[in-house]
Amino acid sequence: MTTTVSSSRFLRFVEAFDKLVDRAGGDEPTILAEGKTLLHELIANDDWLPDCCAQPHHQYYQQYLLHADPNDRYSVVSFVWGPGQKTPVHNHTVWALIGMMRGAERGERFSVPEGDQPMQLLGEDTLEPGDIDMVSPRLGDIHRVSNAFDDRVSISIHVYGGNIGRISRHVFDVATGSTKPFISGYSNEPSKAAS
Ligand code: FE
Repeated sequence: MTTTVSSSRFLRFVEAFDKLVDRAGGDEPTILAEGKTLLHELIANDDWLPDCCAQPHHQYYQQYLLHADPNDRYSVVSFVWGPGQKTPVHNHTVWALIGMMRGAERGERFSVPEGDQPMQLLGEDTLEPGDIDMVSPRLGDIHRVSNAFDDRVSISIHVYGGNIGRISRHVFDVATGSTKPFISGYSNEPSKAAS
């Protein structure tokens, strides 16, 4: 098991999430509904996140692995946005809960590509501290996320239904619907620099 954070608040969250995934047995609606409450409690206070997992990079948004379930049932990541940084349009292939902790981020949801047609923007939301978004192949799994601020760092805490840094998924070209595979890795692992 990998756990980067030692605060009791975070460890209580992991303990509760372990029990939830044990009990839910892969039932996504239950995990999302109850996991949302757990994540909301976690991000209500942000003094538990160590500085090492809150560092922006001048060029790239950062994804720090905070906890990986030993059976790859879920993982917890801090997403650290430098000013104006954004993801490409991407999918996840697993459920995800996104909890805003500091600053704000904008999420744009896109349709599944059809042939070589341009992808449609389905909607746009801004998350403020305490807000939680969710995605999954069942609910809609393709989005682009950006820091809502051009002049400050934003941080959100994500929980994914797998070891997200190891999962092969896709980035999309909105204009053509074409896809490219990618594996994100994590910012706090040596192999990231080597790969
Ligand atoms: Fe995402």
